Amino acid sequence: MSRFFSSRYVNAEPYVPGEQPKGQKVLLKLNTNENPFPPSPAVAAAEKAAAGVNFYNDPMCRDLRAKASEYFGVPASQIICGNGSDQNLNFAVMAFGDADFPVIYPDITYSFYETLADLYSLPSVKVPLTEDFRIDLNDYRGLKGLVMIANPNAPTGLVHSRAELEAFIAEDPDRLVLVDEAYVDFGNESCVPLVQKYDNLIVTMTFSKSRSLAGARLGMSFACQSLTDDMETVRNSFDPYNINSMTAAMGIAMLEDDAYVKANCAEICRVRDWFAEDLRGLGFEVLPSHTNFVLVRSEKIGGEELYLALKERGMLIRHFAKPERISEFNRISIGTEEQMKLLLDTIREILNH
Ligand code: PMP
Repeated sequence: MSRFFSSRYVNAEPYVPGEQPKGQKVLLKLNTNENPFPPSPAVAAAEKAAAGVNFYNDPMCRDLRAKASEYFGVPASQIICGNGSDQNLNFAVMAFGDADFPVIYPDITYSFYETLADLYSLPSVKVPLTEDFRIDLNDYRGLKGLVMIANPNAPTGLVHSRAELEAFIAEDPDRLVLVDEAYVDFGNESCVPLVQKYDNLIVTMTFSKSRSLAGARLGMSFACQSLTDDMETVRNSFDPYNINSMTAAMGIAMLEDDAYVKANCAEICRVRDWFAEDLRGLGFEVLPSHTNFVLVRSEKIGGEELYLALKERGMLIRHFAKPERISEFNRISIGTEEQMKLLLDTIREILNH
């Protein structure tokens, strides 16, 4: 640390992203929930947009927000584009977290929520998951603050229905609920239609998973006009040109080619379901996933041991040493059928050793 580092950040604990292989030969990369299928229609759109980058990009992302408005059925004025969903989570925490309005989230969830709360020195409340790794919304009763619920949750993959979340949102208008729908397209109901009904709801989504644009960085948030205006104030004070023109063009292309996206999601869900069944056949416990990953553990091999044995063979999955409750688990992203067959064969070989 330099002697100039601001005291505001000396206690920040930066988010640790999944390993990005450098140099070593990686046969399978199943550690960061990326989509195994390329964003084919978007590539051409990006090339076209690249020809105009001597001009600034549109800070309001008008074309992309107009397309998203048509697609999601929410007025464009209530949509914010973020440089990845992470940036919209950041805008929400900056806009609404306060000394007397803590950031509230499950003890096992997307760790970036905690990173953000700490970055802005905001109080956090961590609510433990149940014994069977579910979020029990009753446990949040009486808590006031910005409640961040990933639905499906990560890394568990477990979900709530829209009706359950609606009851939760309606129950206390002074609690602000952010529903993070990063994985919603792999078999869950979206809360986006509820933003017209409730002024204490923000829904975020990403193009990184179902829409194959992880490296392009694009996410969106949906909320009532006043919440959106507050987040816009933050966005325009932070980085008004936050979506580069190639990414905006790719986002439009992916929304236009919805059939391609839906077919890829259906294939990923199909592969996920047989992969989970086969893993169960090998004696693994597999939490019922509604996402493009599964959280798994085995009595026959420790979480870290399996992770390291696969890594040695050039196959990356995600192991979380913390929190301790999930340290015997591994999170495995779902790739193509061929990739998952190779992984299963390798796991079988490791177990037989
Ligand atoms: N929310 C959850 C629950 C996630 O798992 C992730 C990806 N790791 C994100 C948000 C962030 O996604 P993005 O790539 O859009 O920043």
